[in-house]
Amino acid sequence: MAGDTPKKPGQGQQEVFGDLYDEQVACPWCESTNTHVVSPFGGTVSEISMKCDDCKSTFGWMKWEGKLPGE
Ligand SMILES: [Zn+2]
Repeated sequence: MAGDTPKKPGQGQQEVFGDLYDEQVACPWCESTNTHVVSPFGGTVSEISMKCDDCKSTFGWMKWEGKLPGE
């Protein structure tokens, strides 16, 4: 009976991290804010993988964007 309840990667994940990343992140390609978190970690620990629902592009969003020390 394996696979009776197929997992849907991504679903539910957004609820878990929704509290942390509930900011509206604008898509760097089309500037749409219709984006959602794909993965809490992108290429680096400080990066979150986001996907734009308008142009279907994925992009990395830095958690501390605009808050980097030394700027
Ligand atoms: Zn976009």
